[in-house]
Amino acid sequence: MAGKSFLRDVDRQFEAAAQLVPMQDGMSEKIRVCNATYVVRFGVRLRGHMHTFLGWRAVHSTHVSPAKGGIRYAPDADQEEVEALAALMTYKSALLGLPFGGSKGALQINPADWQQDELEKITRRFTQELTRHSFLSPSQNVPAPDMGTNERTMVWMTDEYRRWAPNDINAFACVTGKPLAAGGIEGRIEATGRGVQYAIRELFRHEEDLAPTGLSPDLADKSVIIQGLGNVGYHAAKFLSEDDGCRIIGVIERDGAVYREQGLPIEQLKQHLNTNNGVRGFPDAAFVADGASILTRRCDILIPAAMEGAITEANAGSINAKIVAEAANGPTTFEADAILRSRGVLVLPDLYVNAGGVIVSYFEWVKNLTHIPFGLMERRHHETSHRMLAHSLEAMTGTSFPDGQARAFLDGAREIDLVRSGLDDMMRGAYEEISRARKTDAGNHDMRTAAYMIAIRRVSEAYSVIGL
Ligand code: GLU
Repeated sequence: MAGKSFLRDVDRQFEAAAQLVPMQDGMSEKIRVCNATYVVRFGVRLRGHMHTFLGWRAVHSTHVSPAKGGIRYAPDADQEEVEALAALMTYKSALLGLPFGGSKGALQINPADWQQDELEKITRRFTQELTRHSFLSPSQNVPAPDMGTNERTMVWMTDEYRRWAPNDINAFACVTGKPLAAGGIEGRIEATGRGVQYAIRELFRHEEDLAPTGLSPDLADKSVIIQGLGNVGYHAAKFLSEDDGCRIIGVIERDGAVYREQGLPIEQLKQHLNTNNGVRGFPDAAFVADGASILTRRCDILIPAAMEGAITEANAGSINAKIVAEAANGPTTFEADAILRSRGVLVLPDLYVNAGGVIVSYFEWVKNLTHIPFGLMERRHHETSHRMLAHSLEAMTGTSFPDGQARAFLDGAREIDLVRSGLDDMMRGAYEEISRARKTDAGNHDMRTAAYMIAIRRVSEAYSVIGL
């Protein structure tokens, strides 16, 4: 989808909610518009030629600093798409109560066209430009991975920033989504997919919200179709099937879709995708070349986890799912959203469902700023007090803990346990807020409108207290 219509859709979703939030005159416009977009063209000499690259870093809002948001590498990236995604970052962080403004970046490039060493050179040049123009620093603007970028891209960026700012003691906090060995945090790669799982679990814990779908409140055996088996889709599919017993009946990828009513083995499918660059030929599953047609197959939960604009006016009328959980950013157009609503499809909105990434980015950023891993000071202390408690219980009851249980009970929390606990807590908290905000005197709102209302109110308050 062209960035222009994506940006218009995000603006329209914003307007629909903003009119329900009491704000002083002109505030709504101030919040909606993108503060600044830096457009950069830079040259890199590769394969004996000078290649010019085009990139952007949009800062939608700095009502709190730093501004936060991923950088994507995609051949069809454009300025409006980056601005739409930056706006979504503002609303997402505000909804979750994270101390971040919203930002997003992109480089108009197909990463598959370049070797690793070439991508490194390009990334380092891009980083120099961002740093020089104050669009990268731990206190002002903190990127993370997005489509087409990964942990390695983030290491190159961090390393380049450190060269430019050798006196910055907090340099590692200039980027999140880094590998563990370079200042990253446990659980960041899986974070967005994990958050999708927690979001869906939360809906299923709220019988009142779930009731209109007619689904039973047990996730086991629910049928799921996922579009995109990239980082987000893969982890969401893996966790929902392995932990919650969901059946992933359809997976849509670039070359088509695979379908199996009894459920697809996600780990094997991911391996097949990695080696064959597609899902075609996956054993014991039906292959459908027109992958998008699978979006309208009957299922309980549809998870678009690929690009924006997957559900449009053209297919919204035929979506045959009870729930759409938006793991991608902006997968449903404004018109499609209205159609889904009128047909009683429950939409869990992107700014909530895919917030797991930026939540764990927040933990990583804090870890980098405090210069100490989570749990380091408390872990052994907790272990000792748990042990004392266990001994006392054993002495009082005259029985001992079964072996396996004792270990689980005694162990202090590791970093990954704390990350998951923090993520779960924030996802649950935000769900409660959305669920409450839906019910107003003016009637019941859909979840997207409610989520936007919370975010807008927070940004508006932040501006108001500084006297704007
Ligand atoms: N790119 C991810 C997103 O769209 C993560 C952003 C971040 O962690 O800053 O939410």
